[in-house]
Amino acid sequence: MLRGRVFSGARPTGKQHLGNYLGAIQNYVALQADYQCIYCVVDLHALTTLADTGQLRENTKEMVLDWLAAGIDPEKSIVFVQSHVPQVAELHVLLSMVTPMGWLTRLPTFKEKVRQQPDNVNYGLLGYPVLQTADIALYKADTVPVGEDQLPHLEFAREIVRRFNYYFEPVLVERQAKLTQVPRVMGIDGVNKMSKSLNNHIEISASPEEIKRLVMKMVTDPQRRYRTDPGRPEVCNVYSLHKIYTADRLEEIGQRCRAAQIGCVEDKHIFAKRLIDALAPFRERRAAFAARPGYVEEVLEDSARRARAIAQETLGQVKEAMKLV
Ligand code: ATP
Ligand code: MG
Repeated sequence: MLRGRVFSGARPTGKQHLGNYLGAIQNYVALQADYQCIYCVVDLHALTTLADTGQLRENTKEMVLDWLAAGIDPEKSIVFVQSHVPQVAELHVLLSMVTPMGWLTRLPTFKEKVRQQPDNVNYGLLGYPVLQTADIALYKADTVPVGEDQLPHLEFAREIVRRFNYYFEPVLVERQAKLTQVPRVMGIDGVNKMSKSLNNHIEISASPEEIKRLVMKMVTDPQRRYRTDPGRPEVCNVYSLHKIYTADRLEEIGQRCRAAQIGCVEDKHIFAKRLIDALAPFRERRAAFAARPGYVEEVLEDSARRARAIAQETLGQVKEAMKLV
């Protein structure tokens, strides 16, 4: 007996990184045991920040390969591309009618994007959370595995659904965020959250050499300038990831760092080795999926068919509630 329905999505702006994996994908995989899961490559959302769409198709395929290799099972779960289910665009328009403008302009994520791309503040950026609300509402998901950065959007979505249900009929489902133990992974810059678009990320499919190169670039304790300075593990980004990948040596590494018995370079070598080993089985599974010609396309096509059936039903209920029918 399934406990409910899960929906989540990620933007095809690049391959999946450690932040995506630890913050979201881990839960995507785990929730499959108890929920009907729907995972979406949100290509329409990607358009809000992509000046050049030439990479979209390639990115979509790479992301799906990451998901499959991480353990998302397309026999159990629906794995599809957002634009393959056009009903979402229709629901977006309908929900926009119950969305106050002020709620959109106030969102921290919108303000951040305006700062990041002042020359491309398009309407899609402003409407992003409405489209996201439509995504989740369309599939009547009650549980949404996401990273911490998405919490304001989910709160927003809940409010919109409440308004809709109040004004019309209660046909839409309020949803709850589901976080992992690591809801916010910092980028290698140590300042911003790890993000594809900030290019401060480590891809989970990266080669051992690439992982080593990026780990060596990670910013640690900014106050520790010399090898002989005592370190502060509690502010060190590498140490925060040791908690996951080097749990058995955490105490020891922390103590030696504080006592300046271990330097950041040695510390990074330890972490890089652990990360490379931890991701090795993933890389193998990914290569096996990638070697199957047409497999990803097949999964996406079959999933889109299943997704459209659910979407059509919800959209019908929404239109009926709004007296459009
Ligand atoms: P972009 O920079 O294009 O927005 P992104 O790296 O932020 O890409 P998304 O596709 O926006 O990745 O997010 C996919 C999922 O991964 C979301 O649930 C998001 O909350 C989660 N996530 C993204 N970055 C992190 C992070 N650094 N730590 C934890 N979770 C994250
Ligand atoms: Mg993002």
